Amino acid sequence: MTIEGMCLPFRNLRDGISDRWSPCLLDPGNFRRSSLGLKLALVAVHVVFVGAVFLLDGDLIEKTVTEPWYPALYLLLFLAALIQYFVTAGSSPGYLIEARGAFLEANARIKESSASSKQPASLKNDSFIVSISSNQPEKSAHGNTSSSWSKMVMLLHPPGTSVRALTCAYCMFEQPPRSKHCHDCDKCVLQFDHHCVWLGACIGQNNHCRFWWYICMETALCLWTGVFYIIYIQTSISRTWWKDMILIVLLCGLLIIVIFLLLLLLFHSYLILTNQTTYELVRRRRIPYLRGVPEKVYPFSKGIRQNLYRFCCAQGGEYYMEQMPTQLELGELARPYTCLDLLTCRCC
Ligand SMILES: [Zn+2]
Ligand SMILES: [Zn+2]
Repeated sequence: MTIEGMCLPFRNLRDGISDRWSPCLLDPGNFRRSSLGLKLALVAVHVVFVGAVFLLDGDLIEKTVTEPWYPALYLLLFLAALIQYFVTAGSSPGYLIEARGAFLEANARIKESSASSKQPASLKNDSFIVSISSNQPEKSAHGNTSSSWSKMVMLLHPPGTSVRALTCAYCMFEQPPRSKHCHDCDKCVLQFDHHCVWLGACIGQNNHCRFWWYICMETALCLWTGVFYIIYIQTSISRTWWKDMILIVLLCGLLIIVIFLLLLLLFHSYLILTNQTTYELVRRRRIPYLRGVPEKVYPFSKGIRQNLYRFCCAQGGEYYMEQMPTQLELGELARPYTCLDLLTCRCC
């Protein structure tokens, strides 16, 4: 019996549950429509909150004449947040099928150019880096040299890990550490963080940075809008009661959004500094490759500076696949901090 055959009953069960609880998600057409509906709703919410500032605050309209740079900066932030939203929603999170295609193509090129070379891809700091060089990576992903991919993935996992345990039951590819199959995208994603309903896209290795910047811009926009509301309520509280009511209701809504965004920003900043993903943090005990890892140990963290550098300066078009640390390395990471460690900035 094949792995696909074994997994079929579970797949059917899951599909049955999806059908019962979320029928709209089962049909890709409906899913795309609901995603488009959410995007339009999000744009409408932006227009309402920002439009209210210009419609109700007469002082700000006067300011556009005397100090045009001030509202212009605000509108620029509004546009930048919306553009960042659509760019993040349209970006690839780093699908495994694309990485695999790029890897096989690079591997084939290396074999062609140097018959003596046995190394399947560039190996830097215990991790494989595969660059996109093909316009159609998916096409080459189904080549007949897939065993080189299996070998490379096995090298990234601890010795003794079975190929069967690493094979995605849906894509039928071996998954490197930190990859996960997304049931909404129906693809495996490298360094899977989560599937964002508001963006209608997965957040993974290649767009996590964009996602962080989007939350950052959105938080700044909400805070600035909140400042406009508060200034208006303070200066014009007794002029027109219905305008005050609208702005107080909007301010309450904005406060809830700001709290949520600030918490999200802090949470993702913490994940970035420790090189973790939301999925790894939430499901730590259920993820096979994290089961033997001691609590409070971040196995993929290379120190705050390195983590930040990799997150911010990762080159577009590169797929970064990290190797699971050995037991010795995990033991070193779990070692309690001493005074000397603090003085030498071991965490950095
Ligand atoms: Zn998959
Ligand atoms: Zn997804």
